[in-house]
Amino acid sequence: MAMPLNLAVETEKAQALLQTFSTASLLASTGLGVFCLLADHFLQLPFIQHHVWLRAVLDNNVHGIVGLWSWAIVIGLRKKSDFYEVVLAGILASIIDLDHFYLAGSLSLKAALSLPHRPPLHCSTLIPALCFSLRLLMWAFRLKDSWCSLPWLLFIALTSHHVRDGVRHGLWVCPLGNTAPISYWLYVTITATLPHLCSVLMYLTGTRDMISTKHGVAIDV
Ligand SMILES: [Zn+2]
Repeated sequence: MAMPLNLAVETEKAQALLQTFSTASLLASTGLGVFCLLADHFLQLPFIQHHVWLRAVLDNNVHGIVGLWSWAIVIGLRKKSDFYEVVLAGILASIIDLDHFYLAGSLSLKAALSLPHRPPLHCSTLIPALCFSLRLLMWAFRLKDSWCSLPWLLFIALTSHHVRDGVRHGLWVCPLGNTAPISYWLYVTITATLPHLCSVLMYLTGTRDMISTKHGVAIDV
């Protein structure tokens, strides 16, 4: 009896993985790539470029939308709590720019944009460190399975932000230093691919099974 049961579990897992690459999911990630192109083109318009605060706020909003869109692709939108998660991903992807003001020690946008070095939350080495620490904390405090995707949510929110910033500044891999700026098309490609990569990694680490159980159905994204 053990074999057919294992086979059923494996088949279910394989289906969950295949659904990561379903038409709806691929359309959503293509849409995300197109959104990046349109939003970045819009941000280059002269009337936005001439208003520093407007440009900063809109640019930050784009970070937030990319973060929430990416997480929506990973989990699908099936119930109310999914919307909360997606909004949380958007807030996290957006809020990390506050470290510019923290490092500047001022609310002056001019000071925040002319820092001598990158602010702390823009260190890409922090991403795996924070995600693993969060996972360890959840394990230590025995948080419920319903929180299992939180480290991945953090991963996608931070990574999407860093990759988008990377077009101008490269990635800051402290303590090693900065990479060269990421080419624009590489940024669009990584952004559109990241949700699928995240889904596969979640599948490989078993998180996706827990989410499927939490949602009661295999995720159709
Ligand atoms: Zn930033």
